[in-house]
Amino acid sequence: MGQFRFEALKEVLNRKPVETEREDAFISDYFGKLVFDKYKMQKYLSKEAYSAVTEAIANGTTIDRKMADQVAQGIKSWAMENGATHYTHWFQPLTDSTAEKHDAFIEHNGSGGVIEAFSGKLLAQQEPDASSFPSGGIRQTFEARGYTAWDPSSPAFISESTLTIPTIFVALTGEALDYKTPLLRTLQSVNKAATGVCQLFDKKVTSVQVNLGWEQEFFLIDEAFFMSRPDLTLTGRTLMGHASPKDQQLGDHYFSSIPTRANYFMQDVENEAYKLGIPIKTRHNEVAPNQFEFAALYEEANLANDHNQLLMDIMQKISKKHKFRVLFHEKPFSGINGSGKHNNWSMLTDTGVNVYKPGKNPKSNLQFLTFVVNTLQAVYDGQDLLRASIITASNALRLGASEAPPSILSVFLGSEVSKMLDLMEKSVVDRKMTPDEKTALKLNIGRIPEIILDNTDRNRTSPFAFTGNRFEFRAVGSSANCASALIVLNTLVANQLNKFKAEVDKLVEKGTKKDEAIFQVLKSLIIKSKPIRFNGDGYSDEWVKEAAKRGLTNIGSVPGALSVYSRPEIIKMFEKLGVLNKSELHGRVEVEYEKFILKVQIEARVLGDLAINHIVPTAVEYQSRLLDNVKKLKEVFSDEEFAELAGSRLDLIKDVGRHISFIKAKGKELIEARKKANVIEDAIERARAYDETIRPYLEEIRYHIDKLELIVDNEIWPLAKYRELLFIR
Ligand code: ADP
Ligand code: MG
Repeated sequence: MGQFRFEALKEVLNRKPVETEREDAFISDYFGKLVFDKYKMQKYLSKEAYSAVTEAIANGTTIDRKMADQVAQGIKSWAMENGATHYTHWFQPLTDSTAEKHDAFIEHNGSGGVIEAFSGKLLAQQEPDASSFPSGGIRQTFEARGYTAWDPSSPAFISESTLTIPTIFVALTGEALDYKTPLLRTLQSVNKAATGVCQLFDKKVTSVQVNLGWEQEFFLIDEAFFMSRPDLTLTGRTLMGHASPKDQQLGDHYFSSIPTRANYFMQDVENEAYKLGIPIKTRHNEVAPNQFEFAALYEEANLANDHNQLLMDIMQKISKKHKFRVLFHEKPFSGINGSGKHNNWSMLTDTGVNVYKPGKNPKSNLQFLTFVVNTLQAVYDGQDLLRASIITASNALRLGASEAPPSILSVFLGSEVSKMLDLMEKSVVDRKMTPDEKTALKLNIGRIPEIILDNTDRNRTSPFAFTGNRFEFRAVGSSANCASALIVLNTLVANQLNKFKAEVDKLVEKGTKKDEAIFQVLKSLIIKSKPIRFNGDGYSDEWVKEAAKRGLTNIGSVPGALSVYSRPEIIKMFEKLGVLNKSELHGRVEVEYEKFILKVQIEARVLGDLAINHIVPTAVEYQSRLLDNVKKLKEVFSDEEFAELAGSRLDLIKDVGRHISFIKAKGKELIEARKKANVIEDAIERARAYDETIRPYLEEIRYHIDKLELIVDNEIWPLAKYRELLFIR
């Protein structure tokens, strides 16, 4: 027993860093080398085909069959020249990863051989036999057809000799079965709503795009350790393990020099990413030992999200070469920081204005304030929905733990912007404003420093923070598809912008001047949304109390948080904006409940196995050894001496015995609880049972295992310990 652990330790101690295969060039020379981008399109496509694709990208127009054929020919030539033999439609089902099925370019040539071929039809649409993906009942299995359709707004690329075409994944009836479809729909909704609002300030604006810059946190664990711990292998987190005496207290990992093996790994990932056009900008050590982060330059949201998904995939693959495993789990180790994926989010007009960046004059600043205030209101109204969009079995373990945003939504604005909103609230009067009052207010609005980016106070404890030229949604989990959060955020903001515009228009129709109408509606929103504004420490206990006083919600349980999706007004909002219809929404929430149940179920099974088959036998063995020792002591010593020498040992034997009995008893109860939960028909009720009656066992059993870890001889303990997992590299 314990052999696996010691073999792993030996292996890890003998590891040599695997050097990076560096490109002998500047990044800019090979960036996007494997992407069928605009430049390559110009080279490989006819003029008409090129403009058909660029039109489709810019305006969402469809590409007809003839053009699609031409595009397919061009892509195929380029792909084959660059070593591709296969093609695939790449999509993002409602699982935790992307999906692909590769087909060779070959067709019969009519004389017994084959030729390479690729048609517009194959480029545009495919029907993978994808009946095993979760759909939440949208697709009945007897009609399990789903198809993938080309998303021209995200360019095709070559990955491991395969031409990879980003696609949406929908049911035969057109219902979305993936993350990308509704994300694209929300980008349209935001575009429409934000353009309408921008036109209040600048008629030249004709479209608005959403930008996303993600920061991806992760842990690196040596492959041998990863394989030696069934909990890591099967659930992505440690289900047991006593805290290491030293972990992150000294803050000496954060931003420290990157360990060589990790650095080589990260450089390898970057090389690959650059070729695929993923603009990774930053790499650094995070707070917890063996925790790291990549951040990319921001891009258009759909592209940025594809890039994040692709990067996660590349990281998993390249980690194996370096004898690492990447943990994207939000809370792989209890007691130390978990991993998030900050979503930096903003909007850009086609006139080049970031609406979240203070401008140069009162007018552009008023536009800036308009977007900030509407975002505040959207987050206030949508706090429950935003929480639901990021909560999962794994992220729930991170939220509310000491280092992560709690399950309370709030917005940090910083003092500059807060002051501005307070001023506006005070200066806008209910009667018609005098010209002087208006001028004074506009002057003040004009005073927001153009670049607050550098002088905004940062608040790293806020789940939703304004950071000078964007909002940063920090509660998103590291393993999540960003789209899950963005779909909700975009929908809420588009909905709020529409409402705002309608209110302003109504006042104007009634004869109020436009600027004054804007002032008035903003004032009312500033007042209404005030409870969501919080600049203090979001991790503190006081905030939990204060938030409750303000009437903000705080829901830590996954089924509890997910239940908001069934509120009629929320279904209506998704329908009105054309993002998800009732059955799509229902299907996706069903999938979330199922995922939660299955993940907890797997954890419970793994814990049961580890507890009964690994930990208990080890503890029993140790206990027998102690018993032997006691017996021998008794043989050798007098009763008096024996009492003195064996006293503490007898206590230890009893302690070990109690822990063993507890683990066995609770293990049995856990199985019974599962049996009971599993027969519950209704998925929501079943999820609730898993949350309330099964999850607590995991913690209870773990507590006793961790105690045993402290008692039992280190030499026979079967699982790599926290201090080893986190510090030996
Ligand atoms: P920090 O850790 O201080 O938040 P990072 O440099 O790690 O900052 O990450 C900042 C992220 O914000 C990057 O992904 C960057 O591209 C992104 N970002 C910067 N400006 C914008 C913007 N206008 N819109 C969206 N994302 C942005
Ligand atoms: Mg950040």
